[in-house]
Amino acid sequence: KVIGPSSGDDERKQHDAALRPKLLKEVIGQRKVAERLEIAVRASQKLNEPLGHILFDGPPGLGKTTFATVLPNELGTSIQMTSGPALSKPADLLPFLTNLEEGSVLFIDEIHRMPRVVEEFIYPAMEDFRIDIVLGEGMSARTITYSLKRFTLIGATTRSGMLSGPMRDRFKMHEHLEFYSVEELATIIRINSGKLNTPITESAARELARRSRGTPRVANSRLHWTRSYSAAKHDGSISEPIAKAALDMAEVDSDGLDKNDRRYLEILIDLYGGGPTGVEALAATINLASDTLSDEIEPYLLREQYITRSPRGRVAMPRAYTALGKLPPRPKPD
Ligand code: ADP
Repeated sequence: KVIGPSSGDDERKQHDAALRPKLLKEVIGQRKVAERLEIAVRASQKLNEPLGHILFDGPPGLGKTTFATVLPNELGTSIQMTSGPALSKPADLLPFLTNLEEGSVLFIDEIHRMPRVVEEFIYPAMEDFRIDIVLGEGMSARTITYSLKRFTLIGATTRSGMLSGPMRDRFKMHEHLEFYSVEELATIIRINSGKLNTPITESAARELARRSRGTPRVANSRLHWTRSYSAAKHDGSISEPIAKAALDMAEVDSDGLDKNDRRYLEILIDLYGGGPTGVEALAATINLASDTLSDEIEPYLLREQYITRSPRGRVAMPRAYTALGKLPPRPKPD
């Protein structure tokens, strides 16, 4: 198993599951979202109706799966989890739909990647808790209707714009998750160090938080790396100098940008003169999928104003030059 600053997918999932909050009150930040969900949960209990379908959107690692798993805990029901890419045909959904319990949750991650045929198959399930199955072909084809237990569909997407209109309209609630403040991330880091039995100082928690790209999942992985670093080189506890040394070694800069972020900015500035450049061209040069660029790298760079989007593509902002130790170009005279 690889232990390092960029942990593999399996390790990531393990970390995520171990550190994930179990109840709404353990969820840090996203207060408005949490309060609305609290209302929805209470109403569902009082009215004895299943929770309406909910769509979460926002960049990876901000808590979409966390909210989806917390809700059935609050309701005392079960959850089944799958993802858009795993559902290539309607039949792939059948085991999940037939295993539903009254009021239980079906979670579909990356729901924007579900093929259109599966989407259309799921509409009647969402609206009327039934599915239509076509048996046979041509003249002899007939449709059988099955009724399902009343359930809640929770969808998560990094791209709500890629979801079809009819799909989007079938969700009762749409919740958008935003990046976290340094204080919120520091709180998450303190709680999670506790869960990992790792003593951490207040200033070390803030240092890790500042360098975590506004993202709880990144904060968790920086914490794991720093904990390993301290266990190997010190006594396993985390002070500010240890946090700094560990992150420097992982090539996370003082603003929290990692190698991929810097490579993105370097290519945009050095190769494309600061832009505007299309995302496809950037992706090809960096040798990453353009989805990875627009879902994982760009949202934080945009929100922190390292880059902006123009109709002709991405443009580097002065802050990008400073981050790379370069002089920003002078504004062009009008
Ligand atoms: P997403 O589904 O949006 O990619 P996750 O819900 O898997 O993100 O979040 C990744 C990890 O970050 C979780 O396992 C959890 O430990 C942590 N996390 C995310 N959001 C929060 C939060 N609001 N409070 C505390 N921890 C969080």
